[in-house]
Amino acid sequence: MSNDVSLSKNEPEPADAVPAPRDEPPGEALLEISGLTKHFPIYGGFPFKRRVGAVQAVDGIDLTVGAGESFGLVGESGCGKSTTGRLITRLLEPTAGKISYKGQDITHSSRKELMPIRSEVQMIFQDPYSSLNPRQTVGTIIGGPMEINGMNPPGGREGRVRELLETVGLNPEHYNRFPHEFSGGQRQRIGVARALALEPKLIVADEPVSALDVSIQAQVVNLLQKVQRELGIAFLFIAHDLAIVRHFSQRVAVMYLGKIVEIGDRDSIYNRPRHPYTHALLSAVPEVDLEGEERERIRLAGDVPSPINPPSGCRFRTRCWKAQEKCEVEEPPLIQIGGNHDGHLTACHFPEEPTIAARDEDIILDPALAAIEEAADKKTL
Ligand code: ADP
Ligand code: MG
Repeated sequence: MSNDVSLSKNEPEPADAVPAPRDEPPGEALLEISGLTKHFPIYGGFPFKRRVGAVQAVDGIDLTVGAGESFGLVGESGCGKSTTGRLITRLLEPTAGKISYKGQDITHSSRKELMPIRSEVQMIFQDPYSSLNPRQTVGTIIGGPMEINGMNPPGGREGRVRELLETVGLNPEHYNRFPHEFSGGQRQRIGVARALALEPKLIVADEPVSALDVSIQAQVVNLLQKVQRELGIAFLFIAHDLAIVRHFSQRVAVMYLGKIVEIGDRDSIYNRPRHPYTHALLSAVPEVDLEGEERERIRLAGDVPSPINPPSGCRFRTRCWKAQEKCEVEEPPLIQIGGNHDGHLTACHFPEEPTIAARDEDIILDPALAAIEEAADKKTL
């Protein structure tokens, strides 16, 4: 496994450290979204199609991704992460809000208007089995988009495809093979090579390792991290748990039922989470602890409520142990709360203490993360 990527450990900061303020992402803003909303209409009333409601999949989110930045978007299944990714890559039409790419408003741009930037924004999908055409060779899968975009690299397209295969850790001799001849991890590498072929500036990676064997996940995360750092490509990395993005992302947004509930620098989010939902995501699965005094383990009961009829006020309140009446009637704004870094915003009326005492013991590592940490430990020893 290639391990030429340095993996920073989450170092504890002294309690009174004054962190450097940072309210702007590093580098110039590449992607800016504000008030982004997607409501999928629900029709009923046969035989006349009548709109009877809407799935509020994404409901007014703001975020900025800087050039070369790795940004993590995290939340349980059904929170609206994929919809957000598809809106950004304009595979879906937004209901409201604004998307700017390099300062240009692309919210409702037509296919033709999007042509010049299509190649700059690429997507890597969760399922490496369905996202590659089984009838095409690897050479066609990776080289096809170059042809469509009229790219003629110096050494020819085939030469470039072979180079890309090498970049992603595959054998360039496998140029003429078909997807079924590869394992899941290798197919995801082909997906990465295809995304890289057009020299993108931003890659939206939608749970790129969730469908892979845990033993392979860390390798693919390492590859993406290498690509992000060495080629300076910005990433929006979507994941359903905080463990994977911990090593990958400089900034993290936590999403719940269509809204961002907490956003900030990686260290700030992991060391001083304020939103109960972030605490819950960082916390362990339940353990029977009869004394129950020393440490708190948070268990999220039930599933995410339906986005067709989300709870009033704070959407997390139906699963929150701190919820009070205010949470039912008043939606908490996403703001900086006392003692937090600039740029660390939380949407909660009754935020948790900014502490993660006993947190490290509380986290049950994702097996993939455990593998990454192990590799990092070996490297530093
Ligand atoms: P995530 O990626 O976080 O799991 P999604 O963005 O896939 O969440 O979905 C958010 C919500 O939107 C879910 O309730 C899902 O069922 C709904 N949804 C997604 N796509 C559509 C669609 N095309 N039509 C109707 N509802 C959809
Ligand atoms: Mg998804």
